[in-house]
Amino acid sequence: MVNDVIRDLPVICGLFPEEISALLEVEPLRGRQIFAWIHRRRQASFDGMTDLPAALRETLKSRARIWNAECVEAVRSEKSGTVKVLLRLDRGDTVESVLIRDRERVTFCLSTQVGCPLRCAFCATGAAGYRRNLDTAEIVAQALWLLEAGQVNPEIHPNIVFMGMGEPFYNYDAVHKSIRLLMRKDGLNIGARRITVSTAGEVRGIRRFADEGWQVRLSVSLHAANNDLRSELVPLNRRFPLEELRAALEYYQERTGRQFTFEWTLLDGVNDQPQHAAELAEFAKGLKAFVNLIPWNPVPGLPFKPSSPKRAVFFAETLRRWNIPVTLRKEQGRDIDAACGQLRRVVLDQKKFAIENNFH
Ligand code: SAH
Repeated sequence: MVNDVIRDLPVICGLFPEEISALLEVEPLRGRQIFAWIHRRRQASFDGMTDLPAALRETLKSRARIWNAECVEAVRSEKSGTVKVLLRLDRGDTVESVLIRDRERVTFCLSTQVGCPLRCAFCATGAAGYRRNLDTAEIVAQALWLLEAGQVNPEIHPNIVFMGMGEPFYNYDAVHKSIRLLMRKDGLNIGARRITVSTAGEVRGIRRFADEGWQVRLSVSLHAANNDLRSELVPLNRRFPLEELRAALEYYQERTGRQFTFEWTLLDGVNDQPQHAAELAEFAKGLKAFVNLIPWNPVPGLPFKPSSPKRAVFFAETLRRWNIPVTLRKEQGRDIDAACGQLRRVVLDQKKFAIENNFH
């Protein structure tokens, strides 16, 4: 049980080795050892760091804690191999992360905020409200917990997508640092091209991302390519309309030369008609983008239906005729409720965490 004293100690799983040694006032070598214990071996306690002197381990325990995220629920779908973890953070906040398997490939879907302020019309996370940004340690911890819960073979290099709860570019600095940590050779060593950041179209973040000089991938959740419909589905469009989004993407392309993705969640009768495909083709013209069509994962209480498979295939074919590269993603993990925000909501509804009530 996390008591108040422990809760106030600084957390080190979101720090670089040199930051760890500075914080703990130990030699640089010790900082590197502790970093490797956490990121390479996922050691959850100072006691287990057996190459540190015993006296030092005792001191460290009184100065810092390794995590500020504890796994309270791990659910696994036998059919698809999808794993979903629910992490309890300080003050009773919770966040969720998903591991998706596709043949040999393993993808971690990480969250960047507790809840989400964007309120996209079809998304469970937005409907549940917004609490706060996650810090770097809370983001990195999700990947470390998924490795544990998913019993991922060490030979396999996971992919990481920032497509869980929250808008990554509303939490740019923490997301940026967590990516740098996840990529470290002496840590998880995840290649930049295996990491994708997904935004609902926060154009200042897209421009900043373009200037990073790295190979981390960009994905943009478009869902509609006319301003009226997009503003209804993705209210952020009222702040950054399609013209500004398009300009930021042109800048991204100029700076990086890299291809990026448009996400398009297919909603029956709403954005899956031939005219919507034509608008998308027009918007994507001249951009090095490909379109990822996603079946809508139903959220109880929201007034949408997923497009029929026939309609989805037709939409994809229409785009192909316009020479837009497109993939039709198959649905994953509906049997364990994998849509954004849903596990968190289900568990919260069932358990009404006692700890949460204590802290408020
Ligand atoms: N805020 C960021 C990242 C989180 S959402 C963004 O908007 O990109 C990740 C993706 O899941 C987005 O494309 C979002 O539109 C989509 N999504 C959200 N709820 C969904 C649902 N119920 N079914 C299918 N896709 C959904």
